[in-house]
Amino acid sequence: MIEAGRSAVLPSLEARLAELEQVASVLEEPAPVRAERLRAVAAYVESYLDGVEDRPVYQFDPEHDAAPPSLRFSEQAQPLAQVLDTYAGHVDASGANIVSPRFFGFIPSGGLYSSALGDFLAAATNRYAGAKFSAPGLTRLERSVVRWFADLAGYPEGAEGDLTSGGSVAALSAIVAAREAHGLRARDFERAVVYVSPLSHHTILKALRVAGLTEAVVREVPIDAAYRMDAGALERAVTADHGAGLAPWLVIATAGTTDMGSIDPLPLIADICARNHLWMHVDGAYGGAFLLSETGRPRLAGVERSDSFVVDPHKGLFLPFGCGVVIVRDGQRLLDAFHARGPYMQDFKHVFPVDDRSAADVSPELSRPFRGLRVWLPLKLFGVATFRAALEEKLLLARYFHEQVQRLDGVEVGPPPDLSVVTFRFLPARGDANELNRRLVDALRNDGRIFLSSTSLRGTYLLRFAVLGFNTHRDDVDLALEVLAHKAGELRRRA
Ligand SMILES: *Cc1c(COP(=O)(O)O)cnc(C)c1O
Repeated sequence: MIEAGRSAVLPSLEARLAELEQVASVLEEPAPVRAERLRAVAAYVESYLDGVEDRPVYQFDPEHDAAPPSLRFSEQAQPLAQVLDTYAGHVDASGANIVSPRFFGFIPSGGLYSSALGDFLAAATNRYAGAKFSAPGLTRLERSVVRWFADLAGYPEGAEGDLTSGGSVAALSAIVAAREAHGLRARDFERAVVYVSPLSHHTILKALRVAGLTEAVVREVPIDAAYRMDAGALERAVTADHGAGLAPWLVIATAGTTDMGSIDPLPLIADICARNHLWMHVDGAYGGAFLLSETGRPRLAGVERSDSFVVDPHKGLFLPFGCGVVIVRDGQRLLDAFHARGPYMQDFKHVFPVDDRSAADVSPELSRPFRGLRVWLPLKLFGVATFRAALEEKLLLARYFHEQVQRLDGVEVGPPPDLSVVTFRFLPARGDANELNRRLVDALRNDGRIFLSSTSLRGTYLLRFAVLGFNTHRDDVDLALEVLAHKAGELRRRA
């Protein structure tokens, strides 16, 4: 026990501590304050969700990037009501309204409320998910969530995985694991060949760059009329590269391309990878969750033969943004890529001498949010069957849209959808089709009842209709068809 009061400086130190404590202890919000704040935030959310159908699906930003002074911090505290007003007025009032059932752009995300509650629960109790030592229960839950995804993909025991912030980091982890598994070192990079398709997601190239592999040869394998990688062309390219003294290494197969929703021929690609000792990566960021659906599952056959697999629960499981999953078939590869420890972690082994395997051992991150709960809670609350049905519904809605949109005047439609993206465009009586469709997308955004985005393939501007909202149903698709008929009719008449 240290006796206080001996030093001459102590009285002033004590006074200063008391003063600081008084100011700083405001951070310890007492129960009534917590309850009041929770009520106010919940009321805000309710009013947002309540009005979600009435709000335009896209709202233009009235502020043109000028940051209003109210966004800045000040030394003084502000009441929550005022802060929420600032948030509503300057932050939350513009852009795409993703939780709208009529958001059909890009790849729609969800925003399941119970998942948000999982985040709240995880953050408010703030246990540490990075290390098993700190929270063995959290580690157990996350490992069982990861195992569920591994089972979904048909991976064997021994697979390991990580819950990431999204598909980008998940792909990065898989690529680093593939690099280490093949023992690639800097001197090998210029000879290493990666096979992609023109529809591979741009974040794959970004992950290669972040993984230090900018020098690797990236071979673009052509796609067929159904927008799927041409497996014959892949095999010929691999053979030619072997012949040229290069080192074929990695094939990126996409199970649900973002542009078209197409699925690359996974079984054929798996055969080619097996014959040539290539690492097969399946990017199922968008499409992977359709393994849960009756119609989607057989279309994704072959994924079980891949070496690594990515799925984004913040897309296909309708969760709010912030959740991807990477699974590596031979889990040791993921551990080899990411396992690292510091001396300040030496106590872990004293509590778990046999297996202290932690999330941080398979991830580029150390400290990270407890992502497992945002996945686990909704799956527990609704049951897997609900997700199966919702995903099946989205596939059928896309098929329905594909059938119906063809009946509109002047429509040219893409192939029947592999998943839940339909591509199409309107043809003008005369003039430039690209221009017509570009103007249509602008007109739809201005109208605000539905939101669609576009892509282009070999110079052709294509409209995309992507269905993935948990709250998107038949009525919403009918409304989209009606709005499209009306707006496209107007533009075509004026052309
Ligand atoms: C969305 C997407 C990604 C990127 O995932 P993020 O979660 O946005 O980082 C990668 N691949 C495909 C096919 C995607 O649709």
